[in-house]
Amino acid sequence: MAKQTIPVQKNDIIEVEFQDMTHDGSGVAKVNGYTLFVPYGLPGEKAKVKVLKTKKAYGYGKLLQLTSESEFRTEPSCPIYNQCGGCQLQHLTYEGQLNYKQKQVQDALARIGGLEHVHVHPVIGMEPPWRYRNKAQVPVGEEEAGLIAGFYQKSSHRIINMEACLIQEESNDQVVNIVKRIANDLGISAYDEQEHRGVLRHIIAKYGKQTKEIMVVLITKTKDLPHKKQLIERITKEIPNVKSIVHNVNPKRTNVIFGDETSTIWGEPYIYDYIGDIKFAISARSFYQVNPVQTKVLYDKALEYAALTGKETVIDAYCGIGTISLFLAKQAHKVYGVEIVGEAIADAKRNARLNHIENAEFAVGQAEKVIPWWHKQGIQAAVIVVDPPRKGCDEVLLKTIIAMNPERIVYVSCNPATLARDLRILEDGGFETKEVQPVDMFPHTTHVECVALMSRVEK
Ligand code: SAH
Repeated sequence: MAKQTIPVQKNDIIEVEFQDMTHDGSGVAKVNGYTLFVPYGLPGEKAKVKVLKTKKAYGYGKLLQLTSESEFRTEPSCPIYNQCGGCQLQHLTYEGQLNYKQKQVQDALARIGGLEHVHVHPVIGMEPPWRYRNKAQVPVGEEEAGLIAGFYQKSSHRIINMEACLIQEESNDQVVNIVKRIANDLGISAYDEQEHRGVLRHIIAKYGKQTKEIMVVLITKTKDLPHKKQLIERITKEIPNVKSIVHNVNPKRTNVIFGDETSTIWGEPYIYDYIGDIKFAISARSFYQVNPVQTKVLYDKALEYAALTGKETVIDAYCGIGTISLFLAKQAHKVYGVEIVGEAIADAKRNARLNHIENAEFAVGQAEKVIPWWHKQGIQAAVIVVDPPRKGCDEVLLKTIIAMNPERIVYVSCNPATLARDLRILEDGGFETKEVQPVDMFPHTTHVECVALMSRVEK
């Protein structure tokens, strides 16, 4: 067989046309059949690019100059978009982003699951698609002029100061800026990653969208939080809605943000928020969806697909702090939730009590172990909901679901590729994918969230 030659070389400057976009938002161009990935290139655009790296099957390039522009190209709203890396799609109009996400799902279903016939609805977007994140986690550094806090420069560990992040709740920006100023005034030093010395590592701000309650978390390398008293006095004075100030100690040389020691130094250990009419307690460490507005849209869709009448037993696999379970419980006879993280299950139980929900039961463990055990105990579920992490469902779990033979499966997914793989397995096991609804939970990033409805094929 003739050896395939690579038609471009490193440092070549060539003109290309982009045909597609990858799941991480890069433009895809073909040069005599050879694939070149170029960040910021949009489908339909032509551009001069410089080849940066070539491998056997594909290479990477850098966009030098556009020679023809897509109608979906727009000026990024954020002045630090190119440095930050937190957003990947600000150069694409919001309409363009929603089209891109729908196509990502359609392509994955067809390519990986052989499910080209499945109807993928247009993505439900957010209006306006800005200022949605309820949690800010910012590293602290130091420059000559004093403390800085912001983000790590793309593919580096250099901290760049930031005053505003356009996908962050405005309140969180203000809280971080105020805490940064107070810590600076009090002469608290920033942690230096290189030297592994200094004090303040991260400032975290959490915000309850419905309650407007604020939590401040300070993470230090040192066990001691210097000037604690003045710090608390000034934070509570300058941030009127603060309900909780938490101190966490992380003495390790690590990229992991939290250490093991957490204490509430002022106020409550929790703030509260609502999704729909369900109240959630949010602690410093507990997982909570970062876009509460779109979370409601997603869960309403999951609930609609579950089509409950009040008589059903429902299983919620990968239930986290029980968000979906509690939504379901109001319309079901009984809900069983399972989750691998023990603290999340403790939160789920607390949240059930907080809402006087008595028909939800939670278990700690691997879904692929606990659910087969429930099956053996004779639990029969009319509806099974799954919301796995990016790697999708465990195969044993999928086999168990097939054996349990529920009427409907509602699959909530943050990764179209594993969704497609798992839907294929369930289809082969006797279920049919009815429809898929993507919801934009993370505007301006490449993340795509979906909910899929499957029904048992009656024989
Ligand atoms: N449904 C929840 C969280 C979904 S995120 C919500 O909407 O808030 C996925 C969850 O799966 C995480 O909480 C993670 O801890 C959990 N998880 C990961 N692997 C698991 C496994 N094998 N069994 C059970 N839960 C698992």
